[in-house]
Amino acid sequence: MKDNLMLWAWWAWEPIYFHRLAGNVPGAKDISPDKLGEWYENVHSEETIAYMSRLGINCAVTHFYKGFGLEFEKKEMLRTAEFVRTCHKYGIKVFGYTQYGSIFWESFIKEVPEAVDWFQLDEKMTPRTWWGKEYRRIPCINKKEHFDYLQKCIKYGITETGLDGLHFDNFYSRPCYCGECRKKFREYLAANSLPDAENAEIPPEESLKGSSFSPLVNAWISFRQDLMNSLMREIKSYAKSLKSDIMLLYNPMLLHVDNRRAVRSVDMWDIGSNAQFVWAEGGNFPGIRKNCLVHQVNYFKISEATGSRVLSTTWKDDVEGLGLPESPEEISLNMAESAAFGAEPGTNWLLRPTVSGKFRGMEKKPLVDEMQKYFHFIKDNQNLYVNSFSCADTAVYLSKSARYHNFQAAYQKFLTIQQMLIQKHFPFDILFTEQGDKIFNYSTLIIPDTEYLSPDEKGMIKSFLDKGGKLMLIGNGDIEFSQRPERISIYFPGADWTGAIGDYTTYISLPPDASEFAGELEKLIGKDWVFKLYAPDTLVCEFRRAASGEYLLHLLNYKNTEKLNGTTVEFNFDCLKLKNCVDFLNPDIQGKKVLTASVSENIYNIPEFQTYGVLILEEENANA
Ligand SMILES: [Zn+2]
Repeated sequence: MKDNLMLWAWWAWEPIYFHRLAGNVPGAKDISPDKLGEWYENVHSEETIAYMSRLGINCAVTHFYKGFGLEFEKKEMLRTAEFVRTCHKYGIKVFGYTQYGSIFWESFIKEVPEAVDWFQLDEKMTPRTWWGKEYRRIPCINKKEHFDYLQKCIKYGITETGLDGLHFDNFYSRPCYCGECRKKFREYLAANSLPDAENAEIPPEESLKGSSFSPLVNAWISFRQDLMNSLMREIKSYAKSLKSDIMLLYNPMLLHVDNRRAVRSVDMWDIGSNAQFVWAEGGNFPGIRKNCLVHQVNYFKISEATGSRVLSTTWKDDVEGLGLPESPEEISLNMAESAAFGAEPGTNWLLRPTVSGKFRGMEKKPLVDEMQKYFHFIKDNQNLYVNSFSCADTAVYLSKSARYHNFQAAYQKFLTIQQMLIQKHFPFDILFTEQGDKIFNYSTLIIPDTEYLSPDEKGMIKSFLDKGGKLMLIGNGDIEFSQRPERISIYFPGADWTGAIGDYTTYISLPPDASEFAGELEKLIGKDWVFKLYAPDTLVCEFRRAASGEYLLHLLNYKNTEKLNGTTVEFNFDCLKLKNCVDFLNPDIQGKKVLTASVSENIYNIPEFQTYGVLILEEENANA
């Protein structure tokens, strides 16, 4: 639950010695060492804080602990403390970066010599480096001493620095083959009654590729996943014991096509349901690229299902991988996408340095003007955003069994189904097995993969059908639900639905049979439809309800280099007891925009708009 609007900014979340060592600032190109120093000083000035506050920013994410060691980083931590005090004068809350997944070992072991034994070992028993950077090593998740050290950092951040929140970066764990991990793995196998536990060795990393795993490999994945979960619980319990309202933000790097549970020990449900805040980091800056509609809806929907709040620090992929927005249209779409789907809008780009050591935002005024327009719009209409919730009637089921046993195939279909729902204007949620009874909140359930459903899951789905639910099963009819044939649609894909590609950015093409799929779904939904949008497939919608009761239909034009006109929406006012469309709000136009009803009273013409607008609907008897 959120009780406030969080409008956040990247505020140099790495200390200057990191940038000097790495030779860059992500997203900035060719900055000289002199200019870097000048920029870094300005980042912390009161003038900058006052400027950001005037723009509407109320949350900063800045540097605190990068993994060099508490002594090494002391001077910059004192600067963070001073920064926090000044931010608080302006009503800005501050998250401090707290490194989890990497240690700058050369400086670190001078301070903590015994840490030479804390690092992860790969299969050849050599310390694992952080993605090839020889000066960064990865701490082993089983080394209690590393967690004890992390506790010292957490304590310093909360009690000495005055931070309002901690931002745990690189919060995942790759496979480790150290003696401690091998011993603990055998204990885990024994505790879970797996055979030959006392002699088992950790399987090779190669065994994590592919889509289905042996029982031993599955046990190894669960072993590491359980460790991540207990780490999250310990961090939470320790941090909250020091400050009950401390905010905890994690970057698990989940937004990817590969099996993150297998290779990085992080599961979508576990992370989301344990975290208060998560980052959506990746290259999925919204827009149309490589003939695909690139979006973050998948991630926002996962966050809504798991109950975490999500901040989008998404990059626009370019030749260097970490691109920043260049046009006002990119800014508005990025902000509108976060706001419409219940995420936290913010700026990852404004304070990044330019070649001349200035802030990017100050050299690109049209971008700042656009951002400010959106911040003001969101603030002026905050009752539409704070604590709003999706009222989709259709859910896409991401079963625990498919996630655990057949991730690759199931997840690819899951992504493609979402892409079709998004581009064919069906409001939807994601439903995890772990959400249990929540299934009964929906009238239609789409199951991408029935092959691996567990008996418990099948039981739950049967009672969903018995209570009137409808099912769409993809490409597999051999599930024993035949007692309700009129409420089941079995759809056999007429094309390959496993074509989502990309590592840092996920590109999902609309398959050639998207219209057939949409037609089948429409038939299944039958008389329970809420609205129909007559618009191109580059328009995306989200149907929500404000905490104050209004129904909201958010409309986003992903092809916003051109204005969109001629969009029509037809409502089924019998459904949800909707009564009337009362307004169309749009950040580009001040004041109310009256809609024109045409043909009959439930069909509305949407006024022309560039990027984003929200239709507000009255409920029948709302004032009775
Ligand atoms: Zn280890």
